Amino acid sequence: MDAIAAAQVLSEIGYLLRQDPKEVYRARAFSAAAWTLALERPNLDTLSRDNKLTSIEGVGEGIAKVLAGLIETGQSTYLERLRSETGQPARDDESSIDLGKYQGDLHSHTDWSDGRATMLEMARAAKALGYKYLGVTDHSPRIKVVNGLDAERLLAQSREREQVEKEVGGLALLQGIEVDILEDGSLDLPDAVLELLDVVVASPHVKLRQEPSAMTERMMRAVSNPNVDLIGHPTGRRPGSREGATYDFELVFREAAKHGVALEIDCDPARMDLSPEHARLALESGCTFSLDADAHAPAEFAYVPMGAWMARRAGIPMDRILNFKPLSALTMIAK
Ligand SMILES: [Zn+2]
Ligand SMILES: [Zn+2]
Repeated sequence: MDAIAAAQVLSEIGYLLRQDPKEVYRARAFSAAAWTLALERPNLDTLSRDNKLTSIEGVGEGIAKVLAGLIETGQSTYLERLRSETGQPARDDESSIDLGKYQGDLHSHTDWSDGRATMLEMARAAKALGYKYLGVTDHSPRIKVVNGLDAERLLAQSREREQVEKEVGGLALLQGIEVDILEDGSLDLPDAVLELLDVVVASPHVKLRQEPSAMTERMMRAVSNPNVDLIGHPTGRRPGSREGATYDFELVFREAAKHGVALEIDCDPARMDLSPEHARLALESGCTFSLDADAHAPAEFAYVPMGAWMARRAGIPMDRILNFKPLSALTMIAK
């Protein structure tokens, strides 16, 4: 059994367990084990044969048992049970996602804000994964605790971007920002600054529990801003610990589709936002998607294969996902 395929199963188990607040620790354990598998790609068949699955970091007896069953039969009865108990949609057959065709990622962080690696380290990791492009989207000034970037620091960052691009070679670094959607739906940087950037990810981070009607207005305003390319983790939820924003999803998704603004499926196992249910609604509303790791360190690119099942569960075809398009086909870059 391929370690990535196993990671996806563990990740889905972690996700489904997060629906139950009592299971939050177990959920985290499954997500963490999935992360280790995706990162280290151990030979599962050998480990299982030698009864050594617990030698994998973060894999205790319980997870080892789930893994052993999966390796033996190619199926997980535990996952099947959770799926039916939680009534999650299953539309894997409608999706054509092939991660081998993944071209790039549009949302990542560096130590310019709250990332834990330099731009060079992030770029090298992306190149090693075969990516053709990487969106460098650090935070905007509002998020003071993470040293968000104003116009001046963005300019300084763009000079580093040029250097790193030259040094790494063969990887396009897109100068971007993850700009905060403020309470009234305006953005945390002036249009004159956003206009200059290759990729603008607009995300809700604070005041997520606004009244649904105010939140709807806030999101409608954000998706209508011509400088916004995609909405990052559109609900801001953290399954198992923080409920996300509630708004008129269909109305906002339709408006996003109208403006050509993509919705993100944030692959961070702590977020998984959009959920499969919301992603399905967005698909039916005509939206395109961006499947991003929102990586804050090179290792976190491993979130992508784990998050891809979300898009599969929602039945999203590959041609609706920006990351499978070559850079030349990303219209946002030119706009
Ligand atoms: Zn964010
Ligand atoms: Zn982010």
